[in-house]
Amino acid sequence: MSLAIVYTRANQGVDAPLVTVETHLSNGLPALNMVGLPETAVKESRERVRSAILNAGLEFPARRITINLAPADIPKSGGRYDLAIALSILAASGQLPAKKLADIEILGELALAGDVRGVQGVVPAVIAARDAGRRLMVPSANADEATLVRNASSFGVDTLRNAFLHFSGKPLSPMPERTLPVQTMSGITEISSVRGQVLAKRALLIAAAGGHNMLMVGPPGTGKTLLANAMPGLLPSLNEADALAVAAVRSVAGVRFEAADWACAPFRAPHHGASAVAIVGGGRHITPGEVTLAHAGILFLDELTEFKRHVLESLREPLEAGMITISRAEYRVSYPARFQLIAAMNPCPCGYAGDERGFCRCTPDRIARYLEKISGPLLDRIDVHVQIGRLSSEELRRPPKTPEPDSAQLREQVTQCRQTQFVRQGCLNRELDAERLDEFCPMQPAAESLIQQSMEKLHLSARACHRMIKLSRTLADLDGEQIISASHVAQAAAFRHFAVRSLTA
Ligand SMILES: [Zn+2]
Repeated sequence: MSLAIVYTRANQGVDAPLVTVETHLSNGLPALNMVGLPETAVKESRERVRSAILNAGLEFPARRITINLAPADIPKSGGRYDLAIALSILAASGQLPAKKLADIEILGELALAGDVRGVQGVVPAVIAARDAGRRLMVPSANADEATLVRNASSFGVDTLRNAFLHFSGKPLSPMPERTLPVQTMSGITEISSVRGQVLAKRALLIAAAGGHNMLMVGPPGTGKTLLANAMPGLLPSLNEADALAVAAVRSVAGVRFEAADWACAPFRAPHHGASAVAIVGGGRHITPGEVTLAHAGILFLDELTEFKRHVLESLREPLEAGMITISRAEYRVSYPARFQLIAAMNPCPCGYAGDERGFCRCTPDRIARYLEKISGPLLDRIDVHVQIGRLSSEELRRPPKTPEPDSAQLREQVTQCRQTQFVRQGCLNRELDAERLDEFCPMQPAAESLIQQSMEKLHLSARACHRMIKLSRTLADLDGEQIISASHVAQAAAFRHFAVRSLTA
């Protein structure tokens, strides 16, 4: 046999399209030609594959070798095809039986000595191979990720020699599925440890229940960051599909997946100095950004006004579409980015605007310039605005009269409220399409007229109005009501009242 076919997987966004490696040996001057890979990648791969085959004690055929990686239009980079290429050369030269390669897919980079190195994006490849009814051979270094996927059959391999032996009489055994730990809550603020701030805690509960975006405005030292850090403790475990999506994103981004993180909603808190590429993704070799790493979880932007304006503007697309598309001249990549935005900021440059003690010395002009960084369209996409005040010294000293609910109690409420939403409409209230609002958000007549009034009085855009209806829906759900009442709309309007704009008014 002088022709061999081996299957492998590319990496495109969080997908893993099939790539076929066809290797043909013919007589002629010894040479190795590769088609379907960029020139530099070919050169590097050729050296690694040749050296690894020789170091594995196998024969590198002294013939004319032509390798085709198809389809040609999938962007291919990195060494993830090395192992597939090496095995296809061994099969084409008759050193191992080609038919044994028919029902398996191969992934792995080779070191010159023949060791198999880990690659990125293993989770999407395992899912795709399983769905195609094939097994998958992956680097041992990626075993942790590969065994997360249910009902898949994968082998972990550490050297080219052992991969060769697997197909020629010394088969490896499939890796057992991982038993995943029960979700734990480490490193998360317990909400009852935050003193006072009753309104802010209620806002957190509402935001968590419906997945609404939230902005906290208040002077430094009032616990905004602590409150945001308590948010993950209010969220239920992810379902299997979302948990796997989160694992796939980390696998593609090259972020190590810790077993303890399984099914935990991600919580990402990038620094305000972060670039647009770091936030939304991109770069020369396109990688996902924070909005994608926060998929199915929370993106927390502390000191919101310190982020560069164009970075904040780049959030508009993912906030609206739940995904981000990065385009290059020759191709485009889409990543999931369905996250909940939690933001915090000071009310003015010095932080004390609104404080009765009159500490603030900022001029109205300076405050206006400071607030201008947050554009109207971005504010429009934030449903819950809450002002966080300083606690009086008495409030700080005296323990609360009634015990405050802890994170576990609030999580129970959030879980029930989310179940109501999923049973009714199959998604969170935040994600309801405008066309489905009439169907899923029935209102009492008084509620409808209040919506009309707020639209006129607050000059709300259609989008802002839809978002207010969705927030009212969550408030009604928390009360266990099917029909939205005027009181729910009034509360939603109060939360939507633009805290930031009111500072300049
Ligand atoms: Zn000030």
